[in-house]
Amino acid sequence: QAKDQGRGCYAYFSEDQTIAARERIALETRLRRAIEQQELRVFYQPQVDIASGRIVGAEALVRWQDPAEGLIPPLRFIPIAEETGLILDIGKWVLRETCRQGRRWLDEGLPPLTLAVNVSPQQFRRGNISALVEAVLNETGFPAEHLELEMTESGLLENQSNVMELLNKLRYQGVRLAIDDFGTGFSSLAYLKHFPLDVLKIDKSFIDDIPHLQDDMEIAATIIAMGHILGFKVLAEGVETPEQLAFLREKNCDSYQGYILSPPVPAEAFALLLREQGIN
Ligand code: C2E
Ligand code: MG
Ligand code: MG
Ligand code: MG
Repeated sequence: QAKDQGRGCYAYFSEDQTIAARERIALETRLRRAIEQQELRVFYQPQVDIASGRIVGAEALVRWQDPAEGLIPPLRFIPIAEETGLILDIGKWVLRETCRQGRRWLDEGLPPLTLAVNVSPQQFRRGNISALVEAVLNETGFPAEHLELEMTESGLLENQSNVMELLNKLRYQGVRLAIDDFGTGFSSLAYLKHFPLDVLKIDKSFIDDIPHLQDDMEIAATIIAMGHILGFKVLAEGVETPEQLAFLREKNCDSYQGYILSPPVPAEAFALLLREQGIN
């Protein structure tokens, strides 16, 4: 009986896997078409300077505007894009679109902002990111010093051999470098201090339970203090409550992103937020 059950489970599981595989292939095909049909969008989430309370930048976050399904969040398609290599095309498109938009905002007289773009490990591994950045900055006329590239700890660790060289090259090109989701990977601050980084982004998971979890508060405070000692700016991700913001201010965290001010929004809505706070 146990054997029957086992076989039953196995058969069920295997059928499940087949469905999952089929769905993945279908999604990959749709995603390829979505890129061609220009169904991708860039949304912008404000980055706020904590001391002044002013928007000083934005993170560019991709969405897929599917005609039938509506807005599809990145977590539904980025993993597949990573596996299939489509992330190279997507990443290139997001970078170009963001720099174009940034140039437009400058031309419209909006104050200069830092625009942060996520770079996947694949782009580091085989995307020739340095040449891409140079081409896009030239083509769009967006100033290098206003572009920030976000990468994850694992993205850095996976590419150990030439990563230092690559980061130095990007730095030399004038762009800023940030570590995304800091604290969720396996790198230590002692290790990161060797890299030419500008910003540490504390992962949202350490912010969520402030002010209720003592451990998380200590971790966040430590990342801020040590980050500063090592010469980095520190940004907190996913700030949703006034208590979290008050805590971060008290610990001298430099900036934040979070729903407390705004989720990621389309370019026009972002420009409205900027105008609302008054230009200069
Ligand atoms: P991420 O780079 O860590 O981006 C931050 C995510 O946290 C965004 O989710 C943002 O909407 C969300 N977030 C910010 N503040 C809050 C908050 O207060 N509460 C909550 N609940 N969430 C908040 P999103 O846009 O769904 O993006 C998810 C992830 O997808 C990103 O995480 C990033 O890893 C990836 N991603 C997005 N766009 C791109 C892209 O263009 N290229 C690559 N390679 N990855 C991307
Ligand atoms: Mg990010
Ligand atoms: Mg993050
Ligand atoms: Mg993340």
